[in-house]
Amino acid sequence: MERTFSIIKPDAVANGLTGKIVARLQEEGFRIVALKMVHLTLAEAEGFYAVHRERPFFASLTKFMTEGPIVPMILEREDAISRLRDVMGATNPANATVGTIRKMYAESIERNVIHGSDAPETAKFEMSYFFNAFEVM
Ligand code: GDP
Repeated sequence: MERTFSIIKPDAVANGLTGKIVARLQEEGFRIVALKMVHLTLAEAEGFYAVHRERPFFASLTKFMTEGPIVPMILEREDAISRLRDVMGATNPANATVGTIRKMYAESIERNVIHGSDAPETAKFEMSYFFNAFEVM
């Protein structure tokens, strides 16, 4: 069993997609071990995406992530990190495989509905950024 970290991004929460995305993840075999709704400050979004601070889209991305509530989650299943990336689809929905969450719901490379950790070290950092031990089941 492996754990990964995911966020239902502000675009998806605002569009009423939270329930659909959670249901899809459970259908794909992920067990939800932590979940809540939060509204990030700019400083909190900048801390979360610190690895991207030199990228040209950093300011726009962090502003987007603060525009409304988000739903961070910790998910567990076999090969959780790579399986979540498969279910999410490519960063740019134009390049995402049919049936993936981003292909179904995302409107652009930035407003792409869902985040998923890309490696064990980032998953560990991201889980601890949002959840303490009492919040993880
Ligand atoms: P991910 O692992 O598929 O989420 O992609 P990255 O780690 O490369 O990028 C993090 C997030 O930044 C993405 O999910 C998008 O929301 C955003 N992003 C990535 N590339 C671009 C880009 O070229 N332009 C803009 N505006 N946003 C981007």
